[in-house]
Amino acid sequence: MPVEDAVPGAMVKTAVVTGAARGIGAATARRLARDGFAIAVVDLDEAACASVVTEITDAGGRALAVGADVTSEEAVTSAVERIASDLGAPTVVVNNAGITRDNLLFKMSLADWDSVMSVHLRGAFLVTRAVQRHMVEAKWGRVVSLSSISALGNRGQVNYSAAKAGLQGFTKAVALELGPFGVTANAIAPGFIATDMTAQTAERMGISFDDFKAGAAATIAVRRVGEPEDIAGTVSFLCSDDASFISGQVIYVAGGPTN
Ligand code: NAP
Repeated sequence: MPVEDAVPGAMVKTAVVTGAARGIGAATARRLARDGFAIAVVDLDEAACASVVTEITDAGGRALAVGADVTSEEAVTSAVERIASDLGAPTVVVNNAGITRDNLLFKMSLADWDSVMSVHLRGAFLVTRAVQRHMVEAKWGRVVSLSSISALGNRGQVNYSAAKAGLQGFTKAVALELGPFGVTANAIAPGFIATDMTAQTAERMGISFDDFKAGAAATIAVRRVGEPEDIAGTVSFLCSDDASFISGQVIYVAGGPTN
């Protein structure tokens, strides 16, 4: 059952954050919990969500670990049903789960194309579709999807660039469809953020993560790479009532202009 907030009569809103066991998703889960949301910490491996859930509950928040592959219709449907009954009907979705399978076009396998499309696009579609009923019923909701500066094109990432550009179109269409029900939909397009994802890229390239970050920082206007909290703060703002007139937008959070 939904929990009562400290403010008498006010209900705690539930947020679903996918890919929340680590990186940007984990920082977002922690931040939205601090903002007062009950958090469904969704990731492939339920056990991997435990430490984020513990951090949130130790800080006085409310969270639930949910193991689900966002590309599976069945898993997403049952995850959202469980979230609604254990935490309260979700009205915030953060489509954050993501993978990279980088390669140059001529060497990219069909499997690497399909898996990247599936996690980012099919995943965002399935999770948002499963949650929209609750947002429409509540006449309030927030959809925030993680795009990337790679949506503008990035060598070695035809799959990822296409998926991240696709999420921008997805966002605008969702904004148009759900706007009449008090729901906003926006995309955040991060630049370089220090997470396991970028650490793995450094490893693949055969350079240390510190050197990789220093090289990236030198090309960024503010001369540093981003941290997961930089993105979590933007998600927090987009989920706030202050952002209720912002919808269908793509916010580049990259430490400088991107084109
Ligand atoms: P990360 O550290 O690799 O974390 C991604 C999380 O998503 C992992 O916990 C992963 O689980 C989970 N995941 C992958 N496939 C999933 C699936 N099918 N179902 C459920 N969960 C799944 O990545 P990150 O750097 O925090 O990135 C988060 C998002 O921001 C991604 O969408 C990414 O594309 C985007 N982004 C990142 C950067 C950056 O510089 N880091 C820049 C732009 C955009 P496992 O650990 O089990 O695989």
